[in-house]
Amino acid sequence: MLSVKVQAKWYTDSQGIMGTNIHTEIWSDDPKLGEQAVAAVMDEMERINQLMSPYIEQSELSKLNRQASASPVKVSKEMFDLVTLSVGLSEETQGAFDITFASVGYLYDYRQNQKPDQETINQLLEAVNYCHIRLDTANQTIYFSHPKVKIDLGGIAKGHGVDNALSILKSMGIEHALVTAGGDTGLLGDRRGRPWTVGIRDPRNKDKQAVILPLENIAMSTSGDYERYFEQDGQRYHHILSPKSGKSVYEVQSVTIIGPDSTLNDALSTAVFVMGVQQGIDLINRTPGYDVLIVDNQRRLHHSKDFYTLTSH
Ligand code: ADP
Ligand code: MG
Repeated sequence: MLSVKVQAKWYTDSQGIMGTNIHTEIWSDDPKLGEQAVAAVMDEMERINQLMSPYIEQSELSKLNRQASASPVKVSKEMFDLVTLSVGLSEETQGAFDITFASVGYLYDYRQNQKPDQETINQLLEAVNYCHIRLDTANQTIYFSHPKVKIDLGGIAKGHGVDNALSILKSMGIEHALVTAGGDTGLLGDRRGRPWTVGIRDPRNKDKQAVILPLENIAMSTSGDYERYFEQDGQRYHHILSPKSGKSVYEVQSVTIIGPDSTLNDALSTAVFVMGVQQGIDLINRTPGYDVLIVDNQRRLHHSKDFYTLTSH
C-alpha cells in the first residue's frame, strides 16, 4: 500500500517542438505508465510537426505547397480533415481565419526582421483566398486553383496536437493531465480535487498575468501579438495577418478562447484577433460552449456574454 502511495505523483516534461514550448503534467500512480504517457505526448507533437511543418522539406504540408497548384495532391486523412475544417472556419469567420494567408505570410521572417514590400504584397494578395483550396472528398485530394497559393497551419496545428495528445492520454487511462503547446492548453479532469489555474499573460509584460482562471476538463487558447514579432520604425510587425491586407492587425493585443475543443480554440483565437473586438465577440456569442476574453490595444478587457473570471488585476 505504502509503495503505491509513494509512487503516485505528477509526471512532467517540457520540450521545444513545433517552434514552441510543449509542456505536460500528468498524474499517475504507476511510474511506468506516467513516463510512457509523458513520452506519448511529446511523440505525438513531434509526429504532427513532421507532417505539418512548413520548415521541413519532406513534410506533407511542404509537399502540398510545392505540388498542389500543378495538380491535385493525395493527402492523409488527418491533413484532409484539418484543411477541410480550416476552410469551413474561413466561411464562418468571413475570411478572417484563412490558411492561404501564407501565400504572403511566408515572406515574413520575424527572426530576421524581414517583411515583403508593398508591391510584392499587392502581387501576391490575390492568392490569399480560401476559395482557391479545392477539396475532393472522394479522392482525398487537395488542389490549389491559383499558381501562387501557399497554406500554413500555424493557426490551428498546435490546438490539433493538444486534442490528439489528450485523446491518447485518455486511452491510456490517464484522468488528470495538462498539455500546453505555446498558447494552447488542454486539461483532462481537474488538478486532483481542485481546479487547474491557467494564466493569461499581460501582453506587454511576460512576467505578469493579466487574468488567472480556475478551469477543469476544458481547453483554452491565447493568440497574442507578442509571440513572434519584430519592431521597425516604431511599428510592431507580428505574426497574425489580415488576409485582406497581408499585414499585421492592430486592434487588439491578445485573444483568449475557452471551449471544449482545442483545435477550434486555436483557430478561433486567431480569427477573433483578426476580426477585432466587436465582430469577434459577436462571433463567439453565437458559438455555444465557447467564450472569449480580449485585451485591446488600449489594454482594456472585453469578454463574451457568459465569460467568468476568478481574479483580474
Ligand atoms: P501562437 O500560439 O503561435 O501565437 P496563434 O494561434 O496566435 O499561434 O496563431 C498565429 C499563427 O497563425 C501564425 O504564426 C500563422 O502561422 C497563422 N496565421 C496568421 N494569420 C492567420 C490568419 N489570418 N488565418 C489563419 N492563420 C493565420
Ligand atoms: Mg490560433
